[in-house]
Amino acid sequence: MRERIGALLDEARAALDGADTPQSLEALRVQYLGKKGPLSALLRGLGQLSAAERPEAGKWINAARVEMESAFAAREAGVKKAARALALAGETLDVTEPREDYPLGLLHPISTILDELVDLFSGMGYEVVEGPEVEYDLYNFELLNQPRHHPARDAQDTFYIEDNIVLRSHTSPVQARTMLSRKPPIRIISAGRCYRADEADATHSPVFHQIEGLYIDKGVSMSDLKGTLEAFARRVYGPEVNVRFRPSFFPFTEPSAEVDLTCPACKGAGGCRVCKGTGWVEVLGCGMVNPKVLELCGIDSAVYSGFAFGMGLERLAMQRFGIPDMRWLFEGDARMLGAGRGGSAQTEGRRGE
Ligand SMILES: [Zn+2]
Repeated sequence: MRERIGALLDEARAALDGADTPQSLEALRVQYLGKKGPLSALLRGLGQLSAAERPEAGKWINAARVEMESAFAAREAGVKKAARALALAGETLDVTEPREDYPLGLLHPISTILDELVDLFSGMGYEVVEGPEVEYDLYNFELLNQPRHHPARDAQDTFYIEDNIVLRSHTSPVQARTMLSRKPPIRIISAGRCYRADEADATHSPVFHQIEGLYIDKGVSMSDLKGTLEAFARRVYGPEVNVRFRPSFFPFTEPSAEVDLTCPACKGAGGCRVCKGTGWVEVLGCGMVNPKVLELCGIDSAVYSGFAFGMGLERLAMQRFGIPDMRWLFEGDARMLGAGRGGSAQTEGRRGE
């Protein structure tokens, strides 16, 4: 019995030395330690031994089982370690390997223009204020001198959520909210998405972006407005730009003006597509805040005056980067990105379509 057990252990050890994977190890475990293995068979055979031999034989068998189990455990640890070392060797990182070229994230033309304008007006003391895109009729229209049945409120132009709730059709409700919640002097810009029920075409989009400015204090005049907008024009269109004010009408300003700038494409020479041959491009609307708006928003128009201006970021981006179709700004074509870092080159691929 003792010799048989000794031979069995030697055989198992030799087999274990050759096992180098978890699978082969498991097969050996079943073979030697399983219910049908030799140790189990020996235990079952104990009954045929004499009562005197039985206890000692049982001890040898159990000792052999313990020894075999520890041999398996040791081998298993070795196999795992080897497998891990192999996996690590396979995953070695070669830091000298050349990487595939992939494009970096770049700013959208609208973001480029917006960042620049926020930077400019912040430098002139304007604070950036935000407001909701889903807005009460009160702030979007009524406080801005556009009572019910005003032509500018035509249901065809404005998205109504409910009878008195709209998707804001301009960023001006932020001005109304600010005038109601603060005392002058007020010097703010607000920018963001606006909505109008327009069909999307080369110059219209149902969602678009505006930036607006509002300055209210004692003694603010039209010349302050002109100086501010000339500074804006020089910054965005270059120092040579000419600025032209044309009388216009807006319900919330009086007097009101449209502002034209020298065409950035032909430098005012005319005869180009961007300016339709006039040498000027229309850029923004502005005016002195209508005293009625000041009063509606709780500001004494006998003491305070102010100006407001607003412009579409899409139009600025299109003029600046030579983008001929507003839809390009919303279609998610990556070639639109990076405007402002050689933007015209970036959009060149698209223009050839
Ligand atoms: Zn032109």
